[in-house]
Amino acid sequence: MDRTDGTFEARTAGRERRGTGGWEDVLAGDAHLVTPGGEWRSKLWSIAVEQFNRAADLLSIEPDIRARLLEPRRSLTVNFPVRRDNGEVEIFTGYRVQHTLTMGPTKGGIRYAPGVSLGECAALAIWMTLKCQLVGLPFGGAKGGVRCDPNRLSHSELERLTRRYASEIFPIIGPNRDIPAPDMATGEQEMAWFMDTYSQHVGYPVPEIVTGKPLVLGGIVGRQVATGLGAVYCVESVLERIGLDLVGSRVVIQGFGNVGAVMARELSNRGAVIVGISDVTGGVASSGGLNVDALMTWVGEHRFLRGFPGGDPVARSDVLEIPCDILVPAALERQITEDNASKLDCQLVIEAANGPTTPDADRILADRGIHVVPDVIANAGGVTASYFEWAQDQQKYLWDSDAIAQRLRTQLRRGIQRVFATADRLDVDWRTAAQAVAIERFAAATRLRTIYP
Ligand code: GLU
Repeated sequence: MDRTDGTFEARTAGRERRGTGGWEDVLAGDAHLVTPGGEWRSKLWSIAVEQFNRAADLLSIEPDIRARLLEPRRSLTVNFPVRRDNGEVEIFTGYRVQHTLTMGPTKGGIRYAPGVSLGECAALAIWMTLKCQLVGLPFGGAKGGVRCDPNRLSHSELERLTRRYASEIFPIIGPNRDIPAPDMATGEQEMAWFMDTYSQHVGYPVPEIVTGKPLVLGGIVGRQVATGLGAVYCVESVLERIGLDLVGSRVVIQGFGNVGAVMARELSNRGAVIVGISDVTGGVASSGGLNVDALMTWVGEHRFLRGFPGGDPVARSDVLEIPCDILVPAALERQITEDNASKLDCQLVIEAANGPTTPDADRILADRGIHVVPDVIANAGGVTASYFEWAQDQQKYLWDSDAIAQRLRTQLRRGIQRVFATADRLDVDWRTAAQAVAIERFAAATRLRTIYP
């Protein structure tokens, strides 16, 4: 049986915890249906487990605590109908996974994508916990989404889908329970629909039910750019540590969405040279540097990068292999794999996306001396700004934009310094160190709360 994690054996000491008394045939026949933890199985979940176990082993976390840290506390799967514009009814499946309620309410985005699954949400939810703990936010992690192709849905179909999904997960969310936010293919408009739906249900406005809202509904200045900006602060801290100058550094970015585009602009404003960039339609490269303003204008007018005249076209899959100093995967998960890790030509990888590197690729990069700044710190800027927005809405006291920008920078730089200090203390790579910082805090909180009843 393919166990998703080593902790299972320790936890159950070789016994099937759901009983073997007279059920041997059932267990032998369809054991996968009843294996604890099997619910979460997905490629992304096994990556999350492998990374978690490496750090938990190092910290010698006790087996029972380890199992409680790893598996999601709550999850909900919903199937619901949405009327398409042509009058037909389509059934969609959505999820919300809450990884831990130990340190506070749960926090995490909602994504619309064809690959969304319970296992994917579970992995992304544990990474949200680690992110929040690493940066010192009073949240556990969550993640949700709807399995759909958002490009196939009209504006009004997306509104109906968002509102119905919000109603479906209503029983488990709330400003002190679980606070959603944007993720892939969701943004301010979806958050406004979400906030409105929740508010209609309870009968009064509740801006603090989601973050990433438009400003006029209680959003904060800078939430949209916060993930990209946070990743740039990480780049600055790392370059200070390894003694590389950002001015003149060659950067390649995979992804030109909310995160990739902000990073391109901010890094080039600080003197870096963007030598390659891509989106879903393909990539563009120029060893002399791409003009980021021209890229922005082009995408503003044509929606995608395809056809951009200011550089050489590159296949989307080849963008990661363009020679550079700093490579930024800022798109999807599992992009750097054992197939391409040996072909990367860079000194530093900044994981602006969630889960872009597989464990096999991680080992190859480590052997090649390529540093990886892991996702749990590199893209923590988004949830950090979300925390400011939530705190503002809870307090009904407006924060000014300078305070937000400054606190974002301080909080992220503190987070990455914790990673460096732990990497030195434990003599491990930055990913393991980042996980260890977060797991140590989480384990301490879990031990202190003990077990109810
Ligand atoms: N979806 C973002 C992330 O993966 C932000 C989550 C939030 O702001 O709650 O970090």
